[in-house]
Amino acid sequence: MKYILRFNLACLLVLLYSCNCSSVESNSKAEEVSIIFPQGDKNTNDNFKGEVWVKSLVDADSLNETAVGNVTFAPGARSKWHLHPAGQIILAIDGKGYYQEEGQAKKILRKGDVVKCPPNVPHWHGASEDTAFVQVAITGRQNGATKWLQSVTEEAYHAAAKN
Ligand code: MN
Repeated sequence: MKYILRFNLACLLVLLYSCNCSSVESNSKAEEVSIIFPQGDKNTNDNFKGEVWVKSLVDADSLNETAVGNVTFAPGARSKWHLHPAGQIILAIDGKGYYQEEGQAKKILRKGDVVKCPPNVPHWHGASEDTAFVQVAITGRQNGATKWLQSVTEEAYHAAAKN
């Protein structure tokens, strides 16, 4: 009898713990995104719309031609269309973001998603309308600097996503 009681108590604890976990994961509003890397400085150039913070984690140099940066997008913030001559890998760290390649539908990015963006393919990335987005961008610099293109139209930004 004692054993059964103890077993039931253990089950209840496991249940309570798992409920708590799922409610934490579903909370990803702007002020609640988790910080892994430093947020860095607020972006001041016009390659982005809305509030964006950038922290360089690894600068490209003669030994390592890959740059790594942490980018935090406030809700509604996004990059302009742009391309990377040596491609880019995006690791979604937290929140809810969008990614779109030219000629493709917009995709939703969530924590744990990975995007491999091919060289010279125009694309944009940013946060969703009501949730911030944190990404780590790994960008090859061996073929030259990022080329910035036109702004993302409101129509494209708000278009339905297809994953
Ligand atoms: Mn990019």
